This record gives sequence, structure tokens and C-alpha cells, in this order.
Amino acid sequence: MTVRVVDAVTINDAHCHFFSSNFFSALARQRLATTGATTAQAEASAADVCRELQWDDPRTADALSDRWVAELDEHRVTRAALIASVPTDEVSVAEAVAHHPSRFVGFFMVDPAASDALDRTRRAVEELRLRTICLFPAMQHVPLGDDRTVSIVELAASRPGTAVFVHCGVLSVGVRAKLGLPSRFDMRLGNPLDVSRLALAFPTVPFIIPHFGAGVFREALMAADICPNIHLDTSSSNGWIKYMPGLTLEAVFKAALAVAGPSRLLFGTDSSFFPRGWQNGVYDTQQQIVDRLGISTADAALIFGGNFDRLFP
Ligand SMILES: [Zn+2]
Repeated sequence: MTVRVVDAVTINDAHCHFFSSNFFSALARQRLATTGATTAQAEASAADVCRELQWDDPRTADALSDRWVAELDEHRVTRAALIASVPTDEVSVAEAVAHHPSRFVGFFMVDPAASDALDRTRRAVEELRLRTICLFPAMQHVPLGDDRTVSIVELAASRPGTAVFVHCGVLSVGVRAKLGLPSRFDMRLGNPLDVSRLALAFPTVPFIIPHFGAGVFREALMAADICPNIHLDTSSSNGWIKYMPGLTLEAVFKAALAVAGPSRLLFGTDSSFFPRGWQNGVYDTQQQIVDRLGISTADAALIFGGNFDRLFP
């Protein structure tokens, strides 16, 4: 029996979504505001929304965090980033982290256009001890060079150990489509070159660009090449490679390793709802690629867990 390189390494997942009750309630409220759903539909509880989606009701943040721990244990995953996936849901992830501090690192979505964005961000990093601010400029329609975004990054810089995650490239949120919510995303706003301007201005802040740039791969590589504080996460099925004819995920890994090196790639799955749970298939695909590329055990250990532990000790 051959032992694969990655069988021996610690696995940390740098990209999981924490779909709490607040998350589903927020989507139900958005549906009322944007699609003319009946009040009854929009006022559906989180449990009703889950029933509609045929997903499991997350119940309390504590219960959901316990379920995540069981799921990580089953798959031999040591730690995971949990992303509060609507602005205003920081508290749910903070509860999960407080419940299992050795297993979770708290990430949270901020909408820089919200009037209380800066106050919420300050509270999330200072009081709730969340570690990564997540920006989705295409969804939030706030350019990365906008003063409102810059003040949020300034706050991260004032709080060592805080990272900034910026979703670039193609953005599709499956649950929004399933619930009939419009997704008027402006993809022009998610450009890794704009992340590089921020990363150069704030060299002590670690930046994370998920999914290798999600279709803006060349620019993600350029940004990572120039900015040593830019990291790329490997998460999801990386379906964006279809936009570049002939490109394979193996070639993506090879190029990313050549440019950013093994210490700036963060393994992730983009897991989110139950009962689907942790996306073992993403892991299997990526570990096979790492094996085929003949990456050393030390480098594989960095990608699958070590870099995450260094950023979030
Ligand atoms: Zn995601």
C-alpha cells in the first residue's frame, strides 16, 4: 500500500461558510425587500427557509458548531475557518468560535456601504475576536479603492493578526438563486489588481484571494507576485477554469506554486450547508494533484494546514 504525501499532514480548511439561523432569516428578509414575495413567505423562519431548500435547520449557533466539529472529526480535519456569510451575522460565528476555540477561526462578511460598517468591524475584531474581514466588492458595489473600504482595511492594520479576504472574479451564490433572490453583482469590482493596491498600502495585513481569483487568475498571480502579503485559497471545485480553454486545475496549482510558492496557498473547500457537510471531494481532487505534482511533504503540509496555522495561531 502506498502512503500518499498528504495522508501524513494536518488538514485545516481555510474556507467554510457558517450558515446560521440568522443567515437564513436575513435571506428571507431580503426576499421581501427585493422580490415582492408575500409577507408570509418573507417572514418564514429560518427553519421554513431550510425546509424549502431541503437543507437541515441549523438551529442554534452552538448546535451548528457541534455539528461542524463532528463533521471535521469524521474527515480528520483539525481546524476550519467559519465565515459569517451575511453582514450582521458576526455573533453566530463568534459563538461557534467561543464554543470550540481550538477548532474554529472566525471570518465575517462586512458591507462597507452600511452606515455602521466600521463600528461593526471594530466590535467583531476587538470584542468578538474574529480574525478575518471578508469583502465581496462585486456584491456590495463598493470599489476596493473607496474610502469606506480603505477605512476597514486600516482597522485590520491596527489590529495585528487580522486578515482581509477579498472575493474577486466570478461570483455566484447558489442559495440566492434557489430562493429567487436577484444577484446584481458587478464583477468589474472584484479585480486582484485592486487588491494589490491595498496590499501594498498595508504590507502588514495578510490578504486572502479565494478560488485562485475565480477566473481572474492571471491578475491574481500578478498581485501575488508583487505583494508578499497576498495569499490564494484553493477552495471550491474551481469551476471558473472553464473560462480559460484547456486550463486544468493541476496547471493552476503548478503556476500558483511557481509564483506565490507553497507558503502562500491555503487549502479550502467552500463547504457550507448540511446534510451535504464537508466537501471531501474537493480535498480528494486537490490532494491527488499535489501528489501528481510531486510536491514535497513539507510543502504539502504548508498548503493543507501549516499556512493556516501560521496566519491564525
Ligand atoms: Zn465561499
